[in-house]
Amino acid sequence: MQSQLDSAGGLRHLTTLDGLSQDTITAILDRAERYRRLPGQPAYEGRELAGVTVANLFFEPSTRTRASFDLASRRLGAHVLNLDQEGSSRVKGETMLDTIYTLEAMNTDVFVIRDSEPGLPEFLIDHVAPHVSVISAGEAHMSHPTQGLLDALTIRTHKRRFAGLRIAIVGDIKHSRVARSTATAVATLGCTDLRLVAPGMLLPAEEEFRGAQRFTRIEDGIADADVIMMLRIQRERMVKSAALDDDAYFRDFGLDARRLQLASPSALVMHPGPMNRGVEISSEVADGPRSVIREQVNNGVAVRMAVMASIAATLTRHRRPL
Ligand code: ASP
Repeated sequence: MQSQLDSAGGLRHLTTLDGLSQDTITAILDRAERYRRLPGQPAYEGRELAGVTVANLFFEPSTRTRASFDLASRRLGAHVLNLDQEGSSRVKGETMLDTIYTLEAMNTDVFVIRDSEPGLPEFLIDHVAPHVSVISAGEAHMSHPTQGLLDALTIRTHKRRFAGLRIAIVGDIKHSRVARSTATAVATLGCTDLRLVAPGMLLPAEEEFRGAQRFTRIEDGIADADVIMMLRIQRERMVKSAALDDDAYFRDFGLDARRLQLASPSALVMHPGPMNRGVEISSEVADGPRSVIREQVNNGVAVRMAVMASIAATLTRHRRPL
């Protein structure tokens, strides 16, 4: 894998959190805190991306991540181009690289990519021009780095330290890129007590999530947890025959108010969205006092601003002189 940092240590691409240092992640979170504004406050407006063109290439449906990248780019002064699957020439047979080179010729500086297949972000890193960056907005089941960062920021805001925190991820971990990126983020920041909670068929392979404990009963997995992250069942990544019954799943693995009492009284409830109320989480919990789900969304914009501002600062070193 190519380094995501340039020779001066600046963030050049972001396609995975694997291999990023605690200092790099902390610097992004610190910067995101400066950009963060609560709902009702005027949004941060800056010029950090003035003159930068960002192309959002989404080859898989997305509402919140795409809106979040779009707002983050515009609030820092970028030009933004949104190309989704229907609107792109990929479906018309033009190769991905032709699309990239065409957009590069229009002075695109940053590509934000979401794809349901693994490999595209890394492939693009190998092919883009030296003054162009690639950011993953979700790669198959593998990686969703900005989600991992926004989850880490949300936890840090409430808990301050990761060492000693008991973090439970509950649900379809096997197919979840969020679980992988968030687990990497919190481990890099010092969490040593990660619990994976799922029916056996939705737990990841043994060699993944090194050091995490595995549970097949939610009551055991969330006992005394400081953070509970609920995940959606990723039906689009399952073979049809593996489909689970929603009612049975909620009965066995859903987070409701009764089960939440097993966790620490100050436990945070998180969910990356989209939520399936009544399947993995009850509305009472999703909208309840322990839920930080909308804070995650708020932090998402701030984190994406921070990532793009860091990358833009690096890119200025690689631009062609006039
Ligand atoms: N929005 C998240 C993702 O892109 C989680 C999900 O879809 O369940 O992976």
